[in-house]
Amino acid sequence: AKVDTIERTCFCDSVMDQAERRRRELSFALRGAVERGEFSLYFQPQMDLETGAFSGAEALVRWSHPEYGSVSPAVFIPIAEENGQIITIGDWVLEQSCRQAVTWVRPVKVAVNLSAIQLRQRGLAERIGEILRETGLDPARLEIEVTESSFMADLDLSLQMLREIQALGVSVALDDFGTGYSALASLRVFPFNQIKLDRGFTSDLAVSDEARAIVHSVLMLGQSLGTPVLAEGVETDEQLAFLRAAGCRAIQGFLYSRPVPAGELQRVMLAPPAS
Ligand code: C2E
Ligand code: CA
Ligand code: CA
Ligand code: CA
Repeated sequence: AKVDTIERTCFCDSVMDQAERRRRELSFALRGAVERGEFSLYFQPQMDLETGAFSGAEALVRWSHPEYGSVSPAVFIPIAEENGQIITIGDWVLEQSCRQAVTWVRPVKVAVNLSAIQLRQRGLAERIGEILRETGLDPARLEIEVTESSFMADLDLSLQMLREIQALGVSVALDDFGTGYSALASLRVFPFNQIKLDRGFTSDLAVSDEARAIVHSVLMLGQSLGTPVLAEGVETDEQLAFLRAAGCRAIQGFLYSRPVPAGELQRVMLAPPAS
């Protein structure tokens, strides 16, 4: 039994070493990746169920490294947050998103994810204002997405930042709603322009009474607050039917469209699938 324990410990160590080595490789590779043009943006359309038209699109960053290939943002964003590269990457994402959005054939919103590190960066609101002026994008067409954990870390500073951003005429959405520690407290501390219900609830709709009850309640809560709720991760007609019946007005998910490259977005937006 003793030998067994030792062997298992060694195995775990080497797996951890491997993960740590990978993390360091990626951290190193991220330096200068913006300058080398290794990032691109994909956009996922957001559907307004009342009008049946796309009302906006979320910008999602993609990293293609010459050697490692494409690396998921779920993997590299946390690394970039740790090594500080997120500031450069985030700035690039913001500017590119606005630059792209002004070229769209329909003047819909572009939603951009903001990291906790960016939210604590002094001068962020000024920078966003500068990007809007330089690109000529109407502030009303920009939406910033933040998660509860990204502003709870330094609440006062983050809220100040969000207020400054909102004062520019930019809207602020609460992302991944329901996954944090105190979702309701988030709604009390800031007047979000939109609540994005986490896709975990959507994916559980078919199998969980609890998920159905929670989704109903969140939609009612949004109604009472006067804050629109967008359901994330809608993949099936059944989920769509439930959400529609429950009074949900906006959705995003593979059912309507996966995230697509900028060049494909126009085509998708102009020809929304019938539903
Ligand atoms: P998120 O902000 O919650 O973005 C939604 C994620 O769900 C995207 O993954 C999207 O491709 C995926 N998704 C959308 N619809 C569906 C669906 O119907 N089913 C399923 N299974 N998935 C769906 P992606 O692009 O891999 O991004 C992962 C996360 O990385 C994002 O989660 C966000 O937290 C982060 N991220 C992506 N781009 C950026 C960025 O530019 N800046 C920052 N700070 N974070 C980003
Ligand atoms: Ca998001
Ligand atoms: Ca989300
Ligand atoms: Ca997320």
